[in-house]
Amino acid sequence: MAYVGLGQTSASILGTAAWLILIFVLHPAAYGRLSWLFSVAMLSSSVFTFGLGVVMATSYPEERNEALPGTVVALVWLFAIAGGGVTAGLLALVAETPPDEAFFTGALVFSLSVFSIHFHVLLGRKRYEAYMWGWIGARASALLLPLLLYRALGSVPPMLLGLSASYLLFGITSLGELRHGFNLQSLRGKVAFSAKAWLSGLCGVSLNYLDKILIGLFFPLQVLAVYQFSYRVFLLLTVLPNTLFFYLLPEKSSGNESRSAERVGVGLSFVLAAAAYILAPWIASRVFPGYREGIDTIRLMGLAVVPMTVAKVKSSDLLSKRRADCVLAANLFAAGAGVFGVLFVFVNDFGLRGLASAMTLVQVALVCVLFAFPRFLRGEPRSGRGAALAGLALFSLVAAAFFRTAMPIVRIEEEGAVVQGTLFAMDTVVNVRIRMDDEVKGRALLRESFREIERIERLMSAEDEGAEIYALNANAGSWTPLSPETISLLKRAKEYGELTLGAFDVTVKPLVDFWMEEVKRRGRAPEREELSRFLELVHHRDLEIDERNGRARLLKKGMGVTLGGIAKGYAIDRVCGFLLERGVEGGLVEIGGEMRVFGSKTWRIGIADPRAEGKMIGVIPLRDAAVATSGDYRRYHLLGSERIHHIIDPRTGATAKGIISATVVTKDSLSADALSTAVFVLGIEQGLALLERIGAAGVFVDSERRVSVSSEWSARFWRIPDE
Ligand code: ADP
Ligand code: MG
Repeated sequence: MAYVGLGQTSASILGTAAWLILIFVLHPAAYGRLSWLFSVAMLSSSVFTFGLGVVMATSYPEERNEALPGTVVALVWLFAIAGGGVTAGLLALVAETPPDEAFFTGALVFSLSVFSIHFHVLLGRKRYEAYMWGWIGARASALLLPLLLYRALGSVPPMLLGLSASYLLFGITSLGELRHGFNLQSLRGKVAFSAKAWLSGLCGVSLNYLDKILIGLFFPLQVLAVYQFSYRVFLLLTVLPNTLFFYLLPEKSSGNESRSAERVGVGLSFVLAAAAYILAPWIASRVFPGYREGIDTIRLMGLAVVPMTVAKVKSSDLLSKRRADCVLAANLFAAGAGVFGVLFVFVNDFGLRGLASAMTLVQVALVCVLFAFPRFLRGEPRSGRGAALAGLALFSLVAAAFFRTAMPIVRIEEEGAVVQGTLFAMDTVVNVRIRMDDEVKGRALLRESFREIERIERLMSAEDEGAEIYALNANAGSWTPLSPETISLLKRAKEYGELTLGAFDVTVKPLVDFWMEEVKRRGRAPEREELSRFLELVHHRDLEIDERNGRARLLKKGMGVTLGGIAKGYAIDRVCGFLLERGVEGGLVEIGGEMRVFGSKTWRIGIADPRAEGKMIGVIPLRDAAVATSGDYRRYHLLGSERIHHIIDPRTGATAKGIISATVVTKDSLSADALSTAVFVLGIEQGLALLERIGAAGVFVDSERRVSVSSEWSARFWRIPDE
């Protein structure tokens, strides 16, 4: 038995180590993807083994029927092939997984099933030492092989291949059992038992993996990555309840009372939960800086170790009294509660913290049912009161911790049939107004709009360590896996690079940083040669996009992408699209002065005077269109009398001069945003020519404060006379 314990313990330590190491290696999006596909494979494999392994492990020692191992192995191999095929097919056809990922996930289902039947055969034959080494070998290989393949080939499918090869390697010897022949008779009378074992096995696996599968389906992959990370930290804590369980089960089965061990165990679980709570910020920000969002998640999940320990104590109690049905029922209930929890969190947009709370609450529910159910069966429901009270107390604790951390900082107010709200995001003020009679629905839509903006910010920020663009920059020189959304925005940005003959350039980040930070710090203008060093690092053509494989790279180290000139426009378009989709008739979305209006109303939009706070140089009518202004007056510092601002001419490396404010009107916000930045760089003449060429309208103010208006548009633009 020591071998079995050792095998299990080393397997779970190696497994946890693998997932924690991967955090250092993989981008959060890839990490989330991998853990999603792995969870799908695990669940699918336990569906397709139909409890046959447990039949082998329990029946063979009694019967010694040599036909049994041969038969179950043959069946499981067949089911494994079918299961792999079905999983791959469903992934590709229903979940729109790319073919290679779907195929390798199918292969993983197959290998996991093969491995599972192999170790059950070993258990049945009481070859405990081989069992232990099998687990250690498979897990060690599953740790190393994917990492090596990732280094060599750099994406998710090869890692799946590595996992699959590892489990197959350590499971393939099960084929040797086939020489004992195949005889379906050997399974006679075991079908019901097999079905029971299958169901309870599925419950266990569901509790471990179903949450991740659902999260991967309903939330962005980054959310899953942080969740998976926190969950792995939590698993480290669960070594306690599990060890306790394996100690208590045989003790109690042989009739020993072990109250003191139970008390110590439960007491320790409180210590662990407290330690996780206190250490979470340190773990998440020092050891895994990309996962800072995980702090609250770890804290909330850490609380789960208390109910989990209690549940294990109670389960060992019930099992030793042969009340396995109660344990199964409780687990079924908990799995159901888990599914409900994830969906509830999704529908109400409670996000990561909600997910973590749900996971803890599921453990609380499990404990309550474990205590209440047997008593209920015995017809003494009142004695469950203590358990119910304890459950309620923990429930309130988790709920309080959740609501303390999950309250959004949003101000929403209504005036008549207009619902409006503001938010601070993307380093500026976001403003959304919608026409909506139903106030409750309006508020919900606003909240969703804000969440969408925050989501885009988390994806596209160059400063936020969890962002994809941050990862792209940090990896300059090599490939970075990116979501299709980021890829398509980068592609649009590159198109504007071509369209504006390089005036708009997403790779301008090194120069922006240099001017806005280094030059400001030094307080003197840089030499020309210093700029030319930077110019080598700035060219949008050196941003390579490999759309097929979902990745991109910056060719040279030191390069960097900033979406500052385009991301706000993109976010506005997304929110407008979302609101229109939801049937909103009209509204306005504004982020830091860039805005888009939709619906039949004509809005009058004032254009700020770049040199007089609060004054306007004019008003433009805007209907179902977008407007963006780039200026030197909102973000700048002074160098002597020179304004150093954040728009750079990528051709000279200096901050753009000539224009002090450029406003562009187009149908959509993304092009207005990109074009206003580009025109600011190009100057009046070239800027006007560009707008004319593509049929957009604009108004510019030059450094002498002269106003120029594009010809297509001059009739619609009028100046406000100076007061
Ligand atoms: P704002 O952010 O004030 O609305 P813009 O839309 O013009 O102004 O965007 C300015 C941002 O665009 C800068 O902070 C920088 O990140 C980025 N940027 C600066 N120069 C360029 C350029 N030539 N091409 C593309 N992006 C640029
Ligand atoms: Mg812009």
